[in-house]
Amino acid sequence: MNRIVVWFRNDLRLSDNKALWHACQEADEIIPFYCFDDRFYGQFPWGLPKTGSFRAQFIIESVADLHRQLAEKKVHLQIHQGNTTKALEQLKHQFDFDTIYCAEEVSAEELELEQAIEAAGFRLKRFWNYSLYAKEALPFEIEQMPDVFTPFRKKMEKYAEIEAALPIPNTIKTPKELGPCTLPSLEDLGLEKVARDPRTVLNFKGGSEQAWQRLKDYFWENDRLKDYKKTRNGMLGEGYSSKFSPCLATGSISPREIYWEIKNYEAERVKNSSTYWLYFELMWRDFFRFTALKEGNHFFRIPKNPTYKKLPQFEAWRLGETGQDFVDANMKELLLTGFMSNRGRQNVASYLVHDLKLPWYLGATWFESQLVDYDVCSNYGNWTYVAGIGHDPRPDRYFNVVGQAERYDSDYGYRGNWL
Ligand SMILES: Cc1cc2nc3c(=O)[nH]c(=O)nc-3n(C[C@H](O)[C@H](O)[C@H](O)COP(=O)(O)OP(=O)(O)OC[C@H]3O[C@@H](n4cnc5c(N)ncnc54)[C@H](O)[C@@H]3O)c2cc1C
Repeated sequence: MNRIVVWFRNDLRLSDNKALWHACQEADEIIPFYCFDDRFYGQFPWGLPKTGSFRAQFIIESVADLHRQLAEKKVHLQIHQGNTTKALEQLKHQFDFDTIYCAEEVSAEELELEQAIEAAGFRLKRFWNYSLYAKEALPFEIEQMPDVFTPFRKKMEKYAEIEAALPIPNTIKTPKELGPCTLPSLEDLGLEKVARDPRTVLNFKGGSEQAWQRLKDYFWENDRLKDYKKTRNGMLGEGYSSKFSPCLATGSISPREIYWEIKNYEAERVKNSSTYWLYFELMWRDFFRFTALKEGNHFFRIPKNPTYKKLPQFEAWRLGETGQDFVDANMKELLLTGFMSNRGRQNVASYLVHDLKLPWYLGATWFESQLVDYDVCSNYGNWTYVAGIGHDPRPDRYFNVVGQAERYDSDYGYRGNWL
């Protein structure tokens, strides 16, 4: 009997999921498995949760949706909480297996977890499951990957191809004895329920069904894609950008699935610089993930002995109380909803680093705690970029927040909404 555990990580979907697809092709039986691992729900040294309530709630909803989709196929997702290795050992007592298929990760905590699982005697087979381009599609050895975005993008556009998205496997055979599981609540994860401020740009809900609904609304119902390039620097309302980032971070939808929908839209509605630009932005996401693969721990640029202190200036920044209205409005939005526009993120990050002269990684960890769409590579890649120590040919990426506010919020609409 060839039995394979499919360990869902940040790929909480049935379609275009290589680990699931290959397991279903190769195994007699599979066991779908997810664990809310304690290591991602602890606290930072300065006391804030590593995963805050907004994201944790979003992840719970995303797992619930995966659970529901599998249940429709009479398959029970095995949901655990605590220590992933121990949960797998417990599962092995019930169902004999050695092999686990999962998505390939690139950052330290995720790799430590994999090492612990392998040390316990399991065999892991990893699949590159998160980016637009497959790892195998790279037209260079990963060591030769360009350090800067533009040459990377040009090489990819010229020489690499995007694969078709995989369908949902037709049959998912599991052991008959596999029983139903319940989901942990926020309280079980040591967090409190926080109501999202009604001024939120979108009432973000996790899961593939919601992800596809958002795509349908943004592309097809509201026909916003054709104007994306003009509107993407906005800050108010649901329509200025796609808001795909939370469901991309949990993997409820894959970037390839979005890419092929862009192609459908171009065929049926219009092909223009805006439709290209959404693909362009997804390339940024790939750039940071492949760079993290190339650089390993160096990608994170965290100094050897970081000082994680609750500095008063940092607290003022975090809570939106610096007295700089454009920064404060954005930080309030993040605090009260778990989201902030890209324009806002660039400005508040630059302000922290270049105006307040505080360590960039304090800001990055607050984003990690608070963002509903936190993605390890996109977050740390963008922070080091703004701090001028990452992958930007221009060393000092300074945003003059007063000038930016005049340009992007000339009528005070955004600041008035939040202050
Ligand atoms: C300091 C800082 C921290 C950030 N942290 C994160 C993070 O933790 N998670 C995250 O997903 N994005 C992060 N971003 C990138 C970007 O701000 C968000 O992806 C974007 O605002 C999400 O909104 P959207 O889905 O409507 O974006 P859209 O404008 O609709 O873009 C579509 C998709 O393209 C990708 N994308 C767009 N811009 C970027 C970018 N600069 N880098 C990487 N991918 C991008 C995202 O997947 C996004 O969902 C960060 C940016 C900055 C400046």
